[in-house]
Amino acid sequence: MLNCEIHGALDLRLAERPAEPLAPTQVRVAVKAVGICGSDLHYYRHGRVGDFVIRAPLTPGHEASGQVIEVGAQVSSVKPGDRVALNPSRTCGVCRFCRAGASNHCENVHFFGSASRWPHMQGAMREQVVVEATQCLAVPDALSFERAAFGEPLAVALHAVQEAGSLLGKTVMVVGAGPIGALILMAAKLAGASRLIAVDIVDETLAACTRVGATRTINAATEPDALQALAADKGQVDASFEVSGHYDGLAHCIRSTRPRGTIVQVGTLGGNSEGCPFNQVMVKSLHLVGSFRFVDEYAWAVDYLSRGLLDVSPLLTEAVPVARVHDAFALAADRHRAMKVLVTF
Ligand code: ZN
Repeated sequence: MLNCEIHGALDLRLAERPAEPLAPTQVRVAVKAVGICGSDLHYYRHGRVGDFVIRAPLTPGHEASGQVIEVGAQVSSVKPGDRVALNPSRTCGVCRFCRAGASNHCENVHFFGSASRWPHMQGAMREQVVVEATQCLAVPDALSFERAAFGEPLAVALHAVQEAGSLLGKTVMVVGAGPIGALILMAAKLAGASRLIAVDIVDETLAACTRVGATRTINAATEPDALQALAADKGQVDASFEVSGHYDGLAHCIRSTRPRGTIVQVGTLGGNSEGCPFNQVMVKSLHLVGSFRFVDEYAWAVDYLSRGLLDVSPLLTEAVPVARVHDAFALAADRHRAMKVLVTF
C-alpha cells in the first residue's frame, strides 16, 4: 500500500507498506482525500510540532475521507462501498475525561498523524487505513470526498464557537484567517453572529473569508489604523478568536474585545509574549478560554456538510494526486496561493 511518510525536516517519501490486519470492530477504508493542515506542514518543514519531534517515519494527515473496502465481523454501522468521513480521534470512552463528556482530553487518545506519543500515531495520508467503525461516518454521494475531508477542521471551528458561548447578534472577530479562521467565521455566522470581522496579514486569505461570509476584513500589516479603531472605547468586539498562533494576534484580541467579552484561543502561540497586555484580561473582566480539538462537533460537522448547510467549496484550493504530494505540500505552505490543499488517492 502506498504510504506518505515524513522522515524528518523536508524529507517526505512515498513508500510501499503491507496492508494492516483488521480486527472484528474495525473497518478498512480506501482513502480518497486528505487535507493538509498546519501541523502536517510543521512536521514536513521542521520535523516537529513544538515539543513533538519525529523519531520514526510519520504518516501525516488527519483530515480524511474515503470508501469502505472491508468491515470486521462485529461491524454493522457501515458496509463495503459506503463513502465515509473519518474521525481522526479514537478515544477510550472510559477515562475520567471521556466519562465527563470531554473526550478531547482523553488520556488514551489515538489521533491520526501525531508524534505526541511513542510509537507515533500514523495518519491517513496513505492508500488504506484501518480504523474503528465508530470513526467512520457515512456521507451521501452528493458530498465529494474533498468536501467530506473538511469534517475535521470544521469540527475544530464548531468546537471553538461552542466555547465562545452564545453569539446571537454579536460582533465577532477572527485573528488569523487561514482555513480554520475562515471555518470559524462560517460557524459563527451559523450561530447567529451579526458582524464577522476577519483579520490577517495576507490579502488573498482575507478575500477568501469575504467569500464565506466575512462582513469586514482588515489587513493588520497595511491597515493598523483600522485595527486600532476596533480597540477604541475599551473594545468594539463582543467575542474574538485567536487563530494566528502569534502573541500579537492575542494582543489584538485583548485590546479589541469589550469588557466582559470572550476571547477563544484556538492557535498554538509561539514567539515572544512580551508586550502582550495580559493585565487587560483582568482590568476588562475578559473571559479567556481555550479550545482544543472537538467532541461531538465532528458528527455535527459531517452532518452540516452532508446536508449542504455549510459550503466549504470557496476554501478548497486544489486537490492534488498523491504522486505529486511534494507539490501539494509546497502549495499548501504558500498562504498567498492556498487556503486548503488536499492530497487525493
Ligand atoms: Zn478517554
